[in-house]
Amino acid sequence: PSLAEGRGAGTPGAAPGKGSCQHPLPGLPAPPRQRAPSSRAPSSPAPLLRASREGDSSSSPGASLLRLCTLDMAAPKVAVIGAGVVGLSTALCIVETCPSCSVTVLSDQFSPNTTSNVAAGILIPHTYPGTPIHVQKQWFKETFTYLFALSNSNEASEAGVHLVSGWQIFKNTPTPKEELPFWSDVVLGFRPMSEAELQKFPQHQFGQAFTTLKCECPPYLLWLEKRLKANGVQMYTRKVADLWELHSEYNIIVNCSGIGAHQLVGDEKLLPVRGQVLKVHAPWVKNFIRDGDGLTYIYPGIYSVTLGGTREKEKWSLSPDPDTTKDIFERCCSLEPSLWGAQDIEVKVGLRPSRWCVRLERQVLSRGGVKLPVVHNYGHGAGGFSVHRGTAKEAARLVGECIAALQGSSSRAKL
Ligand code: FAD
Repeated sequence: PSLAEGRGAGTPGAAPGKGSCQHPLPGLPAPPRQRAPSSRAPSSPAPLLRASREGDSSSSPGASLLRLCTLDMAAPKVAVIGAGVVGLSTALCIVETCPSCSVTVLSDQFSPNTTSNVAAGILIPHTYPGTPIHVQKQWFKETFTYLFALSNSNEASEAGVHLVSGWQIFKNTPTPKEELPFWSDVVLGFRPMSEAELQKFPQHQFGQAFTTLKCECPPYLLWLEKRLKANGVQMYTRKVADLWELHSEYNIIVNCSGIGAHQLVGDEKLLPVRGQVLKVHAPWVKNFIRDGDGLTYIYPGIYSVTLGGTREKEKWSLSPDPDTTKDIFERCCSLEPSLWGAQDIEVKVGLRPSRWCVRLERQVLSRGGVKLPVVHNYGHGAGGFSVHRGTAKEAARLVGECIAALQGSSSRAKL
C-alpha cells in the first residue's frame, strides 16, 4: 500500500464534514445565542484591567478586594486554556450553563495541530485507577448520551459522529472486570460473542460484541469551534507561560492544556504516553475490532480506518517510527486479513496526557494577597474522547462555584 508520513499532532487531519446548523438538536442544549460570531485571532487583546495593576497596591488584602470591585461580576470573564476536545467542550459547557459569562479560549495550537486530532475518537473508556469507578461511569454516560443525541440529529455528518458496531476480543480467559466492564450497560447491546462470531478470530478464546459511538476527530473539533463562535466565544492563539499572567485580564482560569500542563503548572504526575496510529483507506471494513489488551485495534470511521497502536510511557517524540508502522500494520492484518489491500497509509503520532486520575478540581492561586481562581481539567490519558462531555460538565459546575465565591467577595467589598 502507498504510505504517507505525517509528523506528530501537527499533521493535518481529514477535511471537515459539510452541513448546516439551522435547527435545534434533539436531546442537545438549546441552539446558540445570537451574538456576532468572532474569528480566531492571532493574539489576545490588551489587558482589560491594566489600570488596576498600576502602583504597588497589589500587596495588601484590601487592594485585592478593591480590584474585585472593578471586575464586572454580572459578566465574569473566563479564560479556557487549550483547544483540544477537553478545552473546547469545557468552554461550550461554560457558556451553556453560565450564559452571562464572557468566555475566551486561549491556545498555542488549534485543530488540526492538537493531540485530539490524532485520536481514533472511539467511545470505549480507559480506566483511571485514581478516580472512583462511579465517577468515571457518570462521565462516560454523559458523554455517550450527548454524542448519541448528536449522532441522531441532522448535524451528525458535520460533527462526524456515528454509531459503530464490533468486537472486543481476548486471547485468554478475561478477568471478571474484563468480562463485565463498568461501561457495559452504557454502550448498546453489550453481549458475549457467539461461537460462530469467534470463528473469525481463531487465536482468541472469548469476546464481546457491542455498538458504541465514534467521533471523526477533526470535524468534531471544528463543529465545537463553530458552536463556540456562534455563542460569542472569542478564540486567540496564545501560549500561556504562567497562569498568573492572566490574572489582570480574567476572573477565572480554566486549565485544559492536556500534556502542556506538565510545563504550565509543573505537574510531574502528568506524563506522556506516546501513541502512533495509521489512517488507511479500506472502506470495506465496517466493524471495529479491539484486542482486549488495548494495544491492537481497528476502528472504521467515515473517511478512513484507524489502525493502532502503541503505548510508550514517557516518550516525548512526535516523529513516526517506520518499524512501528510496519508492526502496527502486520498486527492489524492478522486480525483482519482484508487490510492487506488497504491504501493511502497516513501515520500520526500523539502524546496522551496520562495521569493516575484526571485532575478536575478548583484551586485558588494567591500572590501578594491577590487571588486567582483556577479550575483544572486535564490528564485524560487514553480516554479523553470517551469522557470529555462528562468532565466538561463538572468543570463548568466548578466554574459556577468560583463565580458564586467571587460574587460573595465582591458584595462584601462593596459593603
Ligand atoms: P489536547 O488535544 O492535547 O489539547 C491540549 C490543548 O492545550 C492544545 O490545544 C494545546 O495547544 C493547548 N496548550 C497546551 N499547553 C498550552 C499553553 N501553555 N498555553 C496555551 N495553550 C496550551 N481517546 C478516546 O477516548 N478514544 C480514542 O479512540 C482515543 N484514541 C487515541 C489514539 C491516540 C494515538 C492518542 C495519542 C490518543 C487517543 N485518545 C483517545 C486520547 C485522547 O486523544 C486524549 O485523551 C485527548 O485528546 C486529550 O484532550 P485534551 O484536550 O486534554 O488535550
